[in-house]
Amino acid sequence: MAEQVFQQLPTVPDHPALEEAVLETWEREGTFEALREQNRGGPKYSFVDGPVTANKTLGVHTAWGRTLKDVFQRYKALRGFDQRYQNGFDCQGLWIEVGVERELGLNSKRDIEAFGLEEFARKCRDVVVWSSTELIAGCKRLGQWMDWGNDYYTFSDTNIEYVWRMLKTVQERDWLYLGHRSTEWCPRCGTSISQHELAMSGVYQDKADPSLYVRLRLDDRPGESLVVWTTTPWTLPANVAAAVNPEAEYGLRSNGEWVAVARYPDDEFTERLRGADMVGWTYSGPFDEIVRPAHRVIPWEDVSMDEGTGIVHIAPGCGGEDFELSRVHDLEVITPVDESGRFYEEFGWLKGLSTVEAADQIIGALGGKGLLVEAGLYKHRYPHCWRCDTPLIFRIADDWFISVRDLRQQMLDANATVEWTPEYMGKRMDDWLRNMGDWNISRRRYYGLPLPFYPCNCGHLNVIGSRAELEERAVEGLDQLEELRRPWIDRVPIRCEKCGDSVTRIVEVGDVWLDAGIVPFSTLGWENPEFVPQGYATGAARGLTTADLPDHAYWEEWFPASWVSEMREQIRLWFYSQLFMSVVLVQRAPFERVLGYEKMLDEEGREMHGSWGNMIEAEDAFARMGADVMRWQYCAQPPDRNLLFGFGPADAIKREFLTLWNSVKFFVEYANIEGFRPSWEALNLEGDLAPLDRWLVERTHAFVADAEAGYESYLSVDVMRAYVAYVDDLSNWYIRRSRPRFWQSGGDPAAFQTLWYAIVQTLRVMAPILPFITDHLWRTLVLDGPESVHLAGWPEVPEPDRVLLDEVADVRRVVTLAHQARATAGMKLRQPLRGLVVEGAPSACTHADEIADEANVKSVEFGTVEAELRVKPNLPVLGPRLGKVLRDVQQALQSGAFEELPDGRFRAAGHDLEPDEVLVERLGSDGFAVASADGVTVALDTSLDDDLILEGRVRDLIRQVNTMRKEQGLAITDRIVLTLPSDLEPLLRWEDRIKGEVLAVEIRVDGDAAPSIARV
Ligand SMILES: [Zn+2]
Ligand SMILES: [Zn+2]
Repeated sequence: MAEQVFQQLPTVPDHPALEEAVLETWEREGTFEALREQNRGGPKYSFVDGPVTANKTLGVHTAWGRTLKDVFQRYKALRGFDQRYQNGFDCQGLWIEVGVERELGLNSKRDIEAFGLEEFARKCRDVVVWSSTELIAGCKRLGQWMDWGNDYYTFSDTNIEYVWRMLKTVQERDWLYLGHRSTEWCPRCGTSISQHELAMSGVYQDKADPSLYVRLRLDDRPGESLVVWTTTPWTLPANVAAAVNPEAEYGLRSNGEWVAVARYPDDEFTERLRGADMVGWTYSGPFDEIVRPAHRVIPWEDVSMDEGTGIVHIAPGCGGEDFELSRVHDLEVITPVDESGRFYEEFGWLKGLSTVEAADQIIGALGGKGLLVEAGLYKHRYPHCWRCDTPLIFRIADDWFISVRDLRQQMLDANATVEWTPEYMGKRMDDWLRNMGDWNISRRRYYGLPLPFYPCNCGHLNVIGSRAELEERAVEGLDQLEELRRPWIDRVPIRCEKCGDSVTRIVEVGDVWLDAGIVPFSTLGWENPEFVPQGYATGAARGLTTADLPDHAYWEEWFPASWVSEMREQIRLWFYSQLFMSVVLVQRAPFERVLGYEKMLDEEGREMHGSWGNMIEAEDAFARMGADVMRWQYCAQPPDRNLLFGFGPADAIKREFLTLWNSVKFFVEYANIEGFRPSWEALNLEGDLAPLDRWLVERTHAFVADAEAGYESYLSVDVMRAYVAYVDDLSNWYIRRSRPRFWQSGGDPAAFQTLWYAIVQTLRVMAPILPFITDHLWRTLVLDGPESVHLAGWPEVPEPDRVLLDEVADVRRVVTLAHQARATAGMKLRQPLRGLVVEGAPSACTHADEIADEANVKSVEFGTVEAELRVKPNLPVLGPRLGKVLRDVQQALQSGAFEELPDGRFRAAGHDLEPDEVLVERLGSDGFAVASADGVTVALDTSLDDDLILEGRVRDLIRQVNTMRKEQGLAITDRIVLTLPSDLEPLLRWEDRIKGEVLAVEIRVDGDAAPSIARV
């Protein structure tokens, strides 16, 4: 045997072990650094990372996005682009705080304050330090190449200063205001929740609430009352009005109850009135003994006739629309609960109860007063706090807002310059921009961006725009200012620029999306006069990163981002906040292209939850699937559909991985036997090639072109589809058709050369998606080229010969149909058959021999297939579309009155029927099996004679012997002696063929035992 040129491959790859080894190699050889060095000075590709919240280890959800980010950066690197590779962490806000509260057993804001804000801030930072270390380790294991250690952390003082500066700009333009309004409120977190936070996944959950029908007694109509419906009993003590639809008709039941007629069409009414005629009626509130506001009937066009009684209970202190109505109708606003959702002191027996605790007592009291008509349960989708899962309530609060009135059109214009994939996500952004309310930026919390607002008693609002400004205007407290953060910042009052008085900061912190949205400015050094090495590592970020604060020239080079990518939810979150701040600061979009993607569910399509036992930890996935398998699963996913992720799909992918693996293994084994040694130079294939070789080369070029189109349109799914189809052609056509050329004596160098070329180009194309296995195989196959596939660049190939490719595609189509026809006739492939007739694939006619060989038939004819065409309606599909006219179509099809259209469609009774709307059957004449698709029809002659039967038995034997060789562990070059029982003697008519295919030097006939083999 010749020397071993290539390292042998095991039967199946051990993905996790292989990946650990590749990681070590990258580390040892500095592969990523070499790649950056190689591309330095190349054209720039600017990716800006959306920060991941640093409060957890890596999950498979986050790994999806991280993979996509890595794939397209790796692809751009193969194309020679210079990139920044800066990773980011989101470090402030409720995510972090609530985790720390849980860890410390703190249950309220009072607990946090008692614990001490300084220590609380340090604990929050500890979480970020721990989590960012974990996340970096997880992402490295995933194969993500980033400039780790140079990460940005949104809690750095520098980041905070940039947000301050943006807020000062907003105030200078007169867009900042303190709003007094009803807002979604989390009673546990004690803060308002803004509109865009409601868009986060998991916020709307199914919830069962009390459903109450309550009587409100009318003052001037004795014995009569309005009936209202509510699912929030706690709001009843704050009732001040009942709204009717002025256009609707209302009726009085004989028992004195007023309801909308449209809601109870079958009821009898003793009196009927239009809603408008009821406006102004007054009534007694259900809890007038506690609070005693005025109560009256008001008109409201939006009163729905779809649920309830058509009369709506209005409590302006407890509802968004209610509050707006209070402004229009000058209603009293009663706020019954405090920040933690508990009833205020003046609410008598309700005092101190939570909104949930109060429900039962309120229902009981209504019953006692004879005001309860009916009580039940009502299931609906209800918003919950995105962080702590507490059901939200409405509360009146004073929050800081940025007005969007002047910005809305500018943001729409900016978004029009962005290319979105999938396209509908860009439209979603437009919808959001058209409908968004003012941005509520304040949160009554602790570990967050300190809003730099200092309202003075003189009426002037001081806004600080930078640390330097703070230092200049500080009255005291600078010496203890550890970070620009509570509690330290709260001890630094400033001098009012109007009246000179000392003013303190408001206590609120900022919405976390301010932190993340400023990143395209804060990390790239916008308007920063001088490049400061490690200048971003300030405040809490000190010691965690070496990130620089670049200068404005750098920002000019790298802004806007060429590309950003996050899940769809981020349209209203990070994509929005970035766009918002960028339009405020520079009046343009901060990114040119966006890739969004839908949600991840488990493999059965359910949400993943820790408590449901279907959550997959990234660590488990690395150990049980391997990163390449995960990445395949992520990248094969169309971004406009939910990803069903799991171990089941992973196993299927592992099996599919084997097609390429086995092809490489096949190459390695025979190349080693024949001593084939490829050279990198020979990658420029020249010289005469056999037709099949030439086809594979063209097929490879077509694959490169298809994959390139996929990468360029940010659709990894297109790359994966092209790959799967290509590897099938490589393995199930090229290799299978060429096998003897690899093992015949000496081997055919052109075959080795062509296969090596095809595999090596494939590895380069797939390196961004499957970085481990491609590099492992690269290092196995490429002896004198670049040491890593990631340093090898993108393959430059000529335009493929599409005519030749279509020809062979036709051949494969014919063969597939022949196999189908065989299957319908119940004939196994090893049984040779007499002939095949092909209709409709003219370009395949020069390949008749190949078709005969593949279809295992003695002859192939191109001509007309005699077959009866039967077309039936596919009822489940066609029925719903056609409705009544289905009958006509059905009759036309049955009577043969239809026309076959060239693209697989049919026309019957004036309707065009799509291929999936009909069931097509072709019946061959006697002894023929017929199959057809896409305009190609084949007919297989299934009649047998003794010769054909004997040859079929020979093939069975060859297969049986080769299976025995494998089972007995013979090497592929081992020669054997084959012993057959005497009843198989007739098969020796094919002795030479049997010997050749099982590598037998001799065939003996002896006794009646089963066939046996012995190595010689
Ligand atoms: Zn909460
Ligand atoms: Zn003042």
